[in-house]
Amino acid sequence: MPELPEVETTCRGIRPHVQGRSLSRLVVRNPRLRVVVAADLPARIEGARLDAVERRAKYLLLRFPAGTVIVHLGMSGSLRVVATAEPAGVHDHVDFVFGEAALRLRDPRRFGMVVWQPGEAAAHPLLAHLGPEPLGDGFDAAYLLRITRGLRAPIKHVLMDSRKLVGVGNIYASESLFRARIHPLEPAGQLGPRRCARLVECVRETLAAAIAAGGSTLRDFVGGDGRPGYFQQQYFVYGRHGEPCRVCGTPVRRIVSAQRASFYCPRCQRRA
Ligand SMILES: [Zn+2]
Repeated sequence: MPELPEVETTCRGIRPHVQGRSLSRLVVRNPRLRVVVAADLPARIEGARLDAVERRAKYLLLRFPAGTVIVHLGMSGSLRVVATAEPAGVHDHVDFVFGEAALRLRDPRRFGMVVWQPGEAAAHPLLAHLGPEPLGDGFDAAYLLRITRGLRAPIKHVLMDSRKLVGVGNIYASESLFRARIHPLEPAGQLGPRRCARLVECVRETLAAAIAAGGSTLRDFVGGDGRPGYFQQQYFVYGRHGEPCRVCGTPVRRIVSAQRASFYCPRCQRRA
């Protein structure tokens, strides 16, 4: 599933090819995504200039003068720049055509979304209640300390709660907690200022490293091979239960909480 680093990599990969160009045509081959693509969407944006390509949480924002097309890649979606003439495959549901280049949405499982928000994108219900960006100024030690006071919920659940912090899914929550040497089920309210500061730093490091790893695969977003550009990374703990911790050699453990698997090293991440 595309997580924040993949969406950020997609955003950076496609931006130079389409930002500032006029949309000549919107081709919707199959509108039945998670939310049906509005029939009047082509009329709203055809002929308009794509002013900016941005990311908010795991949404891509295609900003036009009259409003924003909000794209979510769902479970299996990818957005690539292709030659408009390149024949579309069975899972290529939407093309944003900019002359000879097209931004093509491929989504085999059709959990993705292409929705329109007139005016300010942030007002859309999908975006209105989102917490700060993990790589932005709004997420710092003081913020994490403030939102966790009195909370008995596990810190991992807090990291994954998009109302408190966006874009940190299971993989990056697990990896950040390992780097910070904090047990995933530690009650959030137990973290003091020092551990909050360390965790913020580790969340940022983990995401930045993943984005940097994606940077080398940017060309995958601009090509006709049809492979999504998601990159395999070396994880510390995620998906590695039973394998030795990369730091201390202790077997990594897997526990299930709130129906999500958590991976951690019982030695490096002791409960306080
Ligand atoms: Zn360890």
